[in-house]
Amino acid sequence: MIQGQTALRIVSLLKQHYGRSFHRNENPFFVLIFTVLSARNRDAQTYKAATALFKRFPTMKSLAAAKIADIEKTIRFIGLFRQKAKRVKAISQQLLQNYGGKVPNEMDDLLQLPGVGRKTASCVLIYAFNKPAIAVDTHVHRISNRIGLAKTRIPEQTEKALMRLLPKDKWLDINEVLVKHGQQVCLPIKPRCQICQVSRYCNYYKTVFKKSC
Ligand code: SF4
Repeated sequence: MIQGQTALRIVSLLKQHYGRSFHRNENPFFVLIFTVLSARNRDAQTYKAATALFKRFPTMKSLAAAKIADIEKTIRFIGLFRQKAKRVKAISQQLLQNYGGKVPNEMDDLLQLPGVGRKTASCVLIYAFNKPAIAVDTHVHRISNRIGLAKTRIPEQTEKALMRLLPKDKWLDINEVLVKHGQQVCLPIKPRCQICQVSRYCNYYKTVFKKSC
């Protein structure tokens, strides 16, 4: 397993390479709804769906009052649109009923919202409130295990492992750099190890890729 200083070096190299371009301090309601819509979708499709949704239902109140069928119609081109339509309406209603129409900025409160798990809650903390959290999606889970930052079976374990490994001030960067790395270089099926910025530290590179060359 990779230890602290090497882990810091890996995050720093990836941050230098990819920079920081994901928006921060975004409208918390937008971040929350965007993240709910994003499950199993490409970013471009999710943006299209979120934009259409907020154009038709521009406020939390209008989304809470909307008919499920109308929400479905608006976002029907994304995966799981029926489930997501129900979820965004239920979240809007609960925010109005229990949180005075504001998205909470604490993990425990966010987890009370319908269908909101740790990944979504962490994205809201990071991208809306700039609060340290580690959002573990499929990219973060896969790459952490390939490199050797974690040796885990499920994303929740990866989140804990990364939290133990890295100081809090690095948590804000992990999701963004590993998502970009997973989309561009460390691809799910055929990682592009030959052009990877952190290959010299990577367990998969040393034990699988190099041996297959
Ligand atoms: S060396 Fe290969 S497996 Fe390791 S992080 Fe880079 S692309 Fe992924």
